[in-house]
Amino acid sequence: MESVELVIHHGGNFVKDSEQQYINGEVWEVDIDPDLLSCPHLVKFIKEGMLFEDASQFKNAMIKYAVHFKRDIYFYKNESMRVRIKCVEGCPFVCHCSWEERYRCFQLKTCLLEHRCNCKYKLKLVTQKWLEEKYEDIIIKDPTMQHTKLRDHIQTDLKINLTISMVRRAQRAVLERVNLGYSEQFKRIRDYAQECLNSNPRSTVLIKTTRVVPTAPCTFHRLYVCFQAMKRGFLDGCRPIIGLDGCFLKGVMKGELLAAVGRDSNNQMYPIAWAVVEIENTDSWKWFLQLLIQDLGINNSWNWTVISDQQKCTCVFVYGLVHVIQELLPNVEHRHCARQIHANWSKKHRGKLLKKHFEQQTMVEQLRLKDAQAKQDLENYPAKFWCKAFMRTEVKCDSVDNNMCEAFDGTIVKPRSKPIVKMLEDVDKDCKMQERCRQMAW
Ligand SMILES: [Zn+2]
Repeated sequence: MESVELVIHHGGNFVKDSEQQYINGEVWEVDIDPDLLSCPHLVKFIKEGMLFEDASQFKNAMIKYAVHFKRDIYFYKNESMRVRIKCVEGCPFVCHCSWEERYRCFQLKTCLLEHRCNCKYKLKLVTQKWLEEKYEDIIIKDPTMQHTKLRDHIQTDLKINLTISMVRRAQRAVLERVNLGYSEQFKRIRDYAQECLNSNPRSTVLIKTTRVVPTAPCTFHRLYVCFQAMKRGFLDGCRPIIGLDGCFLKGVMKGELLAAVGRDSNNQMYPIAWAVVEIENTDSWKWFLQLLIQDLGINNSWNWTVISDQQKCTCVFVYGLVHVIQELLPNVEHRHCARQIHANWSKKHRGKLLKKHFEQQTMVEQLRLKDAQAKQDLENYPAKFWCKAFMRTEVKCDSVDNNMCEAFDGTIVKPRSKPIVKMLEDVDKDCKMQERCRQMAW
């Protein structure tokens, strides 16, 4: 069982043989292994001498212990410098953890894990607050989840009994807390815009507000961000090709995020500008593109290429991006994402051979001979939008997919569910905007 001792339980650290090793910084930080929780010898992992960063880490470890062994334990003493835990049934069980000046952290001084009681399925230590912390992600992910469904999920997970009212209170508290953050952050949006302009002079950060009725207070409508350093870097060092795409914001906040993404000299994603809008439609795309055109100073659209998803063009009544591009950039080369065309087309026409014909776009005649219906369906997607044979050479880029935008959407998956200012900051952070801006500080 020597190797077992290396497994750290619940973030606690063993003091190995001597204090010296701990003081030298040899602290094992091993995340709790899910398999460990089902291990019948778990009790062996809690030992006298274990170190905890603070009292709450110890308390959390003991709640996990209580849930795993189904023992109803309680805080006999719960003070800032010491925590003592006993069994409700009066068993010999006792755990005492207190501040240890030598290690500058909490240490488990007494650990007697002897129970004479039976398993309990209703535990004192499992509180509403603990449930809020543990299941916050699940509650935020699906705010409309029914209480009973959430309780069933938690009960299956922990294998203990919970009252429906406790689950309901926990769910409500998480949603209220999150909601509060969301609405509060709209008040700080001008501060965010000002900070962007202070740190990146000559950037464009535009906030559009609206009023439901003329006498009503202003409410947030749209936001557009284009950093000067990114704009200049794009104009100076990237090919004139822009990918356009929109993605939904997640969680409590409704709306969509539109983005214009270029390719840098390494053929990697290069975000140019993005906007938070109420919905992706003709009007919002027009607003976004007008600002983008102004920022990039596009007077002659002949030399420019735009790539967008194909679906945005077929559902003209819903999105109308194709019309907006035709209106604002009449001479631009508009490519559609071939990968998405294939995804739509291959719903009816599957198979490796057909895919090969699709990829080798010149073999249309062979495709007709092979599968006339497949060829006919493929003609619904005009080849000039996605076939390399029809593409202009000015842009010096033969890309026919919108992968850059998808990479951008993929990068900002987590920020998309956060409150607006936090989301915008995290978009900056995840796309390493500050780093890129610093590199480009001329
Ligand atoms: Zn007991």
